[in-house]
Amino acid sequence: MILSVCLAEYATSDLVRVMKCPNCHEEIPDYLRYCVVCGADAGYPNVRAALRNEEVSALELRVKDTQEDATLRGCKSVLGKLFDSAAQSSAVISCSLGKINELLSSDNQLFGTFYKAVGGETRLPEDNEWDRIRQSVDSLLFPYYAEHIRFGSLSIDLTGISSYGNYSMVLKELAIRDRATVFEENSIMFIKKHRIVAGDPLPLGYRATWTNRGSLVAAKLGKRLTSTTTEAEFPKLLANSDISNPDFVEVHIYGAIHRRAIEHLCGSNPRQKADKVLLRSACRKLREIGATVEISG
Ligand SMILES: [Zn+2]
Repeated sequence: MILSVCLAEYATSDLVRVMKCPNCHEEIPDYLRYCVVCGADAGYPNVRAALRNEEVSALELRVKDTQEDATLRGCKSVLGKLFDSAAQSSAVISCSLGKINELLSSDNQLFGTFYKAVGGETRLPEDNEWDRIRQSVDSLLFPYYAEHIRFGSLSIDLTGISSYGNYSMVLKELAIRDRATVFEENSIMFIKKHRIVAGDPLPLGYRATWTNRGSLVAAKLGKRLTSTTTEAEFPKLLANSDISNPDFVEVHIYGAIHRRAIEHLCGSNPRQKADKVLLRSACRKLREIGATVEISG
């Protein structure tokens, strides 16, 4: 309620966006979660960005276009089913067994980010295309607050994107729903595809709050549906791990991920003996914290 009141007070300048603090009425820049004057919580910056009127309106327009197209092509009911499935989808983070074990090792561990690792001098940026352009892409999507964002993907069948890791941690909805937003696709691919450069505004209508993820998925995938598309095809439409062209809806989570935010882990049986040991350890710790595990193969 407080958040919606605050959003109505957004300044309209495209260059400098500020909102009025709900407590002291001083200005709070977009990238700050807390008012620097009185410390009031202004809401998660990524969620505030997705709730802007122009973002919400642009997404509504995309959904309307998609619905009209689906009606003309005789697949409106299929689109409705896709919306319902996506509205129930989960956030998953795919990573290596080593990283999962690190997070599971104790209640004092948190899932780190690229920036925290580099800033804390526990890793160096790698000499690859992704690390080189990550900062410039993140500065467009999350100006001045990228260090707080953890990345995941949306999933209907609880599986993640294998190029990020063979194991997928499914997160509890209550642990992320207020601070997660969804984005059209891998943000780096999006910026490249739309040829966006530093200083350009982001196209509108490609991000949404967690609650509104069904609309974003319907707008993105609606035109790929036909009257014969079945619900069994939805999971791969939403999250495709194709090595050369992975495609998914990116989830942006503000703040730390704790091991007790994990609801479920899925993946396949490893071949290496060392990995089998790591997996056994991970499964034991997951059971201790009440999470479920599904290992195939
Ligand atoms: Zn204030």
